[in-house]
Amino acid sequence: MFAGVDIGGTTTQVVLCTADLTVVDSTEVPTPASQGGRAMVRAALDAVGLLRERVPARLLGVGVGAAGVVDARAGRVLVASDSFHSWAGFAVTSAVENALGVPAFLDNDVNAFLRGEVAQGAVAGEPHVLGMTLGTGVGGALWMNGTLLDGPHGAAGEIGHIPGFGDLPCSCGGRGHLETLASGRSIATRYGERTGRSLTARAVAEAATQDDPDAIAVYEAAGTAVARAILITAGMVDITTAVIGGGVSGSWQLLEPPLLAALAAEPPVSGHPLHVVRASLGSGAVAIGAASRARTELGVVTRV
Ligand SMILES: [Zn+2]
Repeated sequence: MFAGVDIGGTTTQVVLCTADLTVVDSTEVPTPASQGGRAMVRAALDAVGLLRERVPARLLGVGVGAAGVVDARAGRVLVASDSFHSWAGFAVTSAVENALGVPAFLDNDVNAFLRGEVAQGAVAGEPHVLGMTLGTGVGGALWMNGTLLDGPHGAAGEIGHIPGFGDLPCSCGGRGHLETLASGRSIATRYGERTGRSLTARAVAEAATQDDPDAIAVYEAAGTAVARAILITAGMVDITTAVIGGGVSGSWQLLEPPLLAALAAEPPVSGHPLHVVRASLGSGAVAIGAASRARTELGVVTRV
């Protein structure tokens, strides 16, 4: 068995998988983010221990997905948001290895999301994929030639903060980034600017289905921007497929038409159409993807 752990801002999800990544059991516990890295890993380990009691089998390895910038080789968190206390700098994999006595691996959560969708989800077996998560922010990851492309700083595929999408201020301090149009937070902000009304992205989506023209316009801008990011990526590294997850992808019926229209209007220079799909593993993608990393690193499979 392999364990996959998703340490999120509010909840930590743990799955136990067989070698073919079938999930045999899973659980979810609150993340004690304010209590520091040691407490967060302790909560995850307790959850793994609970699953091992329920499903007696030999544990071969553990994969962990975590928000923020991580050093995937050293298994350490580099940069974390302010809501995580004593998490930046924390050596996650050595803490897990010391506690459980099996190899452990750490990934950024968006990279783990893409690993999961490629291993078991909407783009299973696809070799060249851009993964995007449209949540509070916008995350991205690249899967090239059947393996994750992480880059020298672990930041390959970070599409949310590339410029060229207007001039609006971004959560990172920059301007005109994709995230200013396509994140849940931005959808709510853009709608508020047009109408003076304060709604969540989900409520804006509901308004769009009631033919609110401002709500429709905000989602059209999001879908068009996402398409543009996919086209830029296709032009740079010749991806064939994009998979889109995160809370905003729940409004797929609003995102997909402008997205497909933009792709059709400016097809890739390769002449090959791009395939864009909604993620299928839901909130389990990160934990399953983390388990998939452990499986790959331990040589149970060399390629997904
Ligand atoms: Zn930004």
